[in-house]
Amino acid sequence: MTDLTVKVPRLPTRIDRELSTIIESCGGMFILKDDHSSNTIGLFRTLQTRFDMHVKYANQVFYRDKPRDIEYGFLSKTVINAFAYSSPLQEKDPFDFIGINVGVIYTLLGIFNKMLSHSSILPDIGNPNIEKVEQSHLSDLVTDVIGKNIHIEQPLCPVRAGYASLLQQTALDFLFFHELTHLLNGHVDYRRSKMQFDTILEMMKTDKFIDDMMVNQTLEIDADCGSIHSTIAHAFRLKDMFSSKNNFNDNAQYESMKKAYGCGYSSIRLVSIAVYILFRICGPSRWYSTMQATKSHPFAPIRSWFSSCTLYEVFKTVPAYRYNELNFSREHILHVNDAENAVSMILNKQNADNIFLEIINNPDSLQYLKSFKTTWKTIRPKLEKFKRGGILAQ
Ligand SMILES: [Zn+2]
Repeated sequence: MTDLTVKVPRLPTRIDRELSTIIESCGGMFILKDDHSSNTIGLFRTLQTRFDMHVKYANQVFYRDKPRDIEYGFLSKTVINAFAYSSPLQEKDPFDFIGINVGVIYTLLGIFNKMLSHSSILPDIGNPNIEKVEQSHLSDLVTDVIGKNIHIEQPLCPVRAGYASLLQQTALDFLFFHELTHLLNGHVDYRRSKMQFDTILEMMKTDKFIDDMMVNQTLEIDADCGSIHSTIAHAFRLKDMFSSKNNFNDNAQYESMKKAYGCGYSSIRLVSIAVYILFRICGPSRWYSTMQATKSHPFAPIRSWFSSCTLYEVFKTVPAYRYNELNFSREHILHVNDAENAVSMILNKQNADNIFLEIINNPDSLQYLKSFKTTWKTIRPKLEKFKRGGILAQ
């Protein structure tokens, strides 16, 4: 039952002076005005319920060694970005904070709405034949639909519109868990102790200090690996929610939930596509070692590769999932390539890149993947004293 008295979006209860400056630089906390539509209020209420669930889960399952408050909040900036903040190391009553720009929410929904408005993208969802292809085109993969004043309509089929919104929520789950992993595994405290940085930001930056960029990219990969596991675990847990049609207000909502969470295959497709599109908005589909070396974040093919390897290991070693790792591996490659194809279709490009061939066919990439492992081995012991719980990857 939804409590209608809960303020949406709720403001964080703990903000220190340092965090307050960061929030100001992101345009301040996002507050809904009275003239916002019921759809917008519903969207934030849904996200709030989802993120509250993640915080509760993190407190119970992850934050076992260093329990502390985990706060989150939506910031007003319309360009996509998110950050992880941790209060200063000497703080007596420490807290963690996850900030998400409101622009991520609208940009993701905009791009997924465009995708599902194209009748050839995910044609087994709802009725694609009623969609208008001209409604699905974008001139580029935008990072700010509000700032660029891009008008985006929902897909015409309500099941497809519902699925677009579930893709958005899944990509946001991933982003939330990605920030949470930066905090949980001590990345933020480590960066603070080394370089006086108080936050980890998500939009890709360029820097000439290549060593530092390699450390940064390695922490990003670790955050992705922790997050992909949590995101798929959450999707598998949601399977039980639609055991009865009676839990839903309308049939379209039930049908889109079934397509998203109906079985292991559905959940893996949902997560693979949602997460890949997020990677893709944040970085290019082609991979070049020289370009990559000066960037704060790995490019989409590398991030996708590591997420895939993580889930392969999870399905191989955690019997609770009852999902065959070889089936997963085959299906995941297809879903990621479908997602890149979908990007090409909405951008009106002739050919799509094959994401995994970007890695396999590139002589530099094996060396590059090895250098992540070497960097991780040097950072891992330094993270031990900062982590909030759990076991760091080997
Ligand atoms: Zn990150």
